Amino acid sequence: MENSSLKSSYLCVPFIYMNEEKWMRLALKEAEKAESEDEVPVGAVIICGGKVIAQAHNRKEATKKATAHAEILAIEKANKKIGDWRLLDCELYVTVEPCAMCVGAIIQARLKRLVYGTADPKFGAVESVIKIFQQSGWNHYPEIISGVLKEESSQIIKRYFTKKRDK
Ligand code: ZN
Repeated sequence: MENSSLKSSYLCVPFIYMNEEKWMRLALKEAEKAESEDEVPVGAVIICGGKVIAQAHNRKEATKKATAHAEILAIEKANKKIGDWRLLDCELYVTVEPCAMCVGAIIQARLKRLVYGTADPKFGAVESVIKIFQQSGWNHYPEIISGVLKEESSQIIKRYFTKKRDK
């Protein structure tokens, strides 16, 4: 009996949403790596043709580079893997809303889809500080999905900053 009710609610979840959670879990794994390296825990993965072609996490501290955001590092890896600056059929999954620099890179790379977890009230350039894609005139607009594994994505960030504060 319990099983049948579980099954019916399970069937209500659209297939595509299940895929999104699956890839976001991988991005969260990258965020955990960042956390273990004492970096702000943000993780990203790029999916192309149903396959992972790049995984990266924030490495600003390790590289001493202001631009070493998870999204930028993932885009660079994907460019290298595909052998093209265009990532037309690829999707970027990132645990936190991208900043203005990363949104710029997403437009430049012509990514087909952007999926992110939690909003970033301090740097977010999709829905928070500015809403870049509400501006008309860009050469490229990705499809955007937000709020995938929002709680998990936000918890890991909160945990990191709480730990920093308590140090
Ligand atoms: Zn960024």
